[in-house]
Amino acid sequence: IFALTNTEIKQGLSESYEKFKNLNTGKNADYIPDLAKVNSSLFGIAIATNEGKIESIGNVDTPFSIQSISKPLIYGLALKDNGEIINEKVGLDATGHKFNSIESIENNPTHIQNPMVNAGAIQVTSFIKGKTSSEKWERALSFINKLSDGKLYLGESVYKSETSTNLRNQAITRLLNSYNMLNSEPMDALDRYTKACSIMLTTKQLAIIGATLANNGTNPLTRQNIIEANYVHYMLSEMAVNGLYETSGQWWVHVGIPSKSGVGGGILAVVPNKMAIVVFSPPLDPSGNSVRGQEVIKYLSKKWNLHYLDQK
Ligand code: GLU
Repeated sequence: IFALTNTEIKQGLSESYEKFKNLNTGKNADYIPDLAKVNSSLFGIAIATNEGKIESIGNVDTPFSIQSISKPLIYGLALKDNGEIINEKVGLDATGHKFNSIESIENNPTHIQNPMVNAGAIQVTSFIKGKTSSEKWERALSFINKLSDGKLYLGESVYKSETSTNLRNQAITRLLNSYNMLNSEPMDALDRYTKACSIMLTTKQLAIIGATLANNGTNPLTRQNIIEANYVHYMLSEMAVNGLYETSGQWWVHVGIPSKSGVGGGILAVVPNKMAIVVFSPPLDPSGNSVRGQEVIKYLSKKWNLHYLDQK
């Protein structure tokens, strides 16, 4: 039976923090100008148990943009709003291409993507319910807030920065529209997608989201059930299969924890029924995953036998 004491958790945090704080490879994402400006030396690790206990180390109260870690969350809301049909519309398999690939849409236009890459996520976002475009966005933000502590907000600066440079996502959106894959006005879906990626949160607040998922959809702080357990199952499955861009297979072999990374430098790892591990460190590897983030989670997975296949 798994039960880490607070002392063991604290020890794991300080060990992994010390071990990787001088690892200085990788670089900030710069295709979104605002992300290039973030202080590269920021480094925080937080662990939240499924009972809501939080331990942390480093810059865990500095807000950063959630970026692609919003994808599994928006997927959860779209499942709540529409049910299983989402899985048929969007697809669940690895594309074998980069997260912002256009080729992958062209290759397989009718059954295309998965919710963890841009095309699939824009498509999923077009299925969020609401009478007006602003109601759809408000519902998305409020849902993600309920998974956490209710204090997340839209980062205007990163949102503007991405909106003024996202020609590629515009192309993806137009192409999806040409294949009739969207369920709302195309640029409205893209705008909502961009806003979701621009949500600001701290390492600790992201750990609460992870704790809610580890706790089968019930927020351990508010005790409110935010999403059905069977939908959490889908969210975590997609994170397991497609959560770390093109290196998701390697991640599963070496770490074995459903995880999602974002180009803002965050990685969320969810160990079901146990805890979430979140790392924030902006420098990324060439696939878009935080370099220190991967090392910390890999280290803790080995130390505590968290690989899914090692669970009894
Ligand atoms: N908003 C970013 C984009 O659309 C998200 C990328 C990511 O974190 O993978 O390119």
